[in-house]
Amino acid sequence: MVQGVFMPDHRGPAFVDEEVVCCVFHGNRIFVARDGSGLPQLPRLEARRGGLPLKDAHYLGRLDGSHCYGLHLPQDMAPPPGLELLGMRALILEGNETASALAGQAFQILEWARTHRHCGACGAPTQAHAADRAVECPDCRIVYYPRIAPVMMALVYRGNGGSGELLLTRKAGYAPGRYTVVAGFVEAGESVEQCLAREVKEEVGVDIRNPRYFGSQPWPFPNSLVLAFSAEWTGGDVVPDPGELEDARWFPIDALPDLPEPVHISRQLIDDTLARMRR
Ligand SMILES: [Zn+2]
Repeated sequence: MVQGVFMPDHRGPAFVDEEVVCCVFHGNRIFVARDGSGLPQLPRLEARRGGLPLKDAHYLGRLDGSHCYGLHLPQDMAPPPGLELLGMRALILEGNETASALAGQAFQILEWARTHRHCGACGAPTQAHAADRAVECPDCRIVYYPRIAPVMMALVYRGNGGSGELLLTRKAGYAPGRYTVVAGFVEAGESVEQCLAREVKEEVGVDIRNPRYFGSQPWPFPNSLVLAFSAEWTGGDVVPDPGELEDARWFPIDALPDLPEPVHISRQLIDDTLARMRR
């Protein structure tokens, strides 16, 4: 469910004297409030004197006009009263898309800031960049932007109508009976099309053609952007990569296994491809 209109921005106001929307993290978990229907919401907290210390917070933008910040709960501060600590994956699965997206963005930015406090070339402490969401080395002037790691996701299919099949895979740690699509990180110098063909060949041993873009989803563990494609099988027997997969096989579209939850783009890709194959 999408709730509210979010306008991203990296430059916040010089002074805040009002309630702000906060992504407050404690380790890898985030503090949430519950609305009347039980849906998790990002809390609105006091930024006035004695409230949350925003000097180390990262400005995210405005949600329905309210300033939004991401920060770690300071070690010397008590948790905000009346809030619940929720894991990021749990927040995503509970279905408040606006809160999940904002929390995911905050999570990535905080993790990037935590790991870029010094220049990777000369070791000098970095400083905030004047114009962009970035930090800069004052000595060698290298600029460090938040890193995004593109992941290509491929649903391989063959046939159509009632005789269609999907090629699905499972890793050892998945829920029992759960299968999903092939996915992997783009390597340096690789195009999207090359990555899709390589990943599918490496993981399941088959060849594909006609990759068809479906959509994308940021995935903040820790900094991925997933681009999802369907692709037509052209040849090859299924041979699961034993280093990556526990199993991979063709499933008739009328006898599919347990699939990922609907919030995952992998599931949306499967549902969309099924609908097109059945037409
Ligand atoms: Zn440097």
